[in-house]
Amino acid sequence: MSAPRDCAACGLCEGRQNVVCPDGDPLSPVAFVGEAPGQKEDETGRPFQGRSGKVLDALLEEEGVSRSSIYITNTVKCRPPGNRVPTKEEMAACLPYLEEELQGRRLIVALGRTAARDLLRREVKLSEEVNKVTKVTVRGREIDMVLTYHPAASFYNTRAKDALRETIRIARTYLEGRGSASSTGT
Ligand code: SF4
Repeated sequence: MSAPRDCAACGLCEGRQNVVCPDGDPLSPVAFVGEAPGQKEDETGRPFQGRSGKVLDALLEEEGVSRSSIYITNTVKCRPPGNRVPTKEEMAACLPYLEEELQGRRLIVALGRTAARDLLRREVKLSEEVNKVTKVTVRGREIDMVLTYHPAASFYNTRAKDALRETIRIARTYLEGRGSASSTGT
């Protein structure tokens, strides 16, 4: 169940140009989940198209992972005004679409604190939890999940970029069928 292009389940429908559809392989074992669409994504209807997307694409390529081999989506599918953080209510309204998208995945990569908080339903401290594989329950089924920095955090932060690179290495083990809950990173 993708979000319909005329979805009006929350107030974010009012300012959007496009409902941003997921990208990549719909059957991939690995799903990357970001926070929310930005301006470029709103214009194109595709996730991770702007500067953050370029950083993510470059790191994927460096680590030998093709963007078409993973699934990429966001916690909310419509751009919040001024790129603000989506509210709890907006994330709750969009959660059924996200949960549907995550069915059958083996690993969820939460890009940034907002995505991690939405999925785990608790506060997270990224600096302490980054690249530790944990479990998240989605519609009664446990799925491995790894928390990492949003690509935007790596614009000026080398540590965040290195952590994201390590996350991609973890994701690659799942794509290759080697990943497990015992995987740990930096
Ligand atoms: S953010 Fe999600 S729930 Fe809200 S209008 Fe867009 S698709 Fe619908």
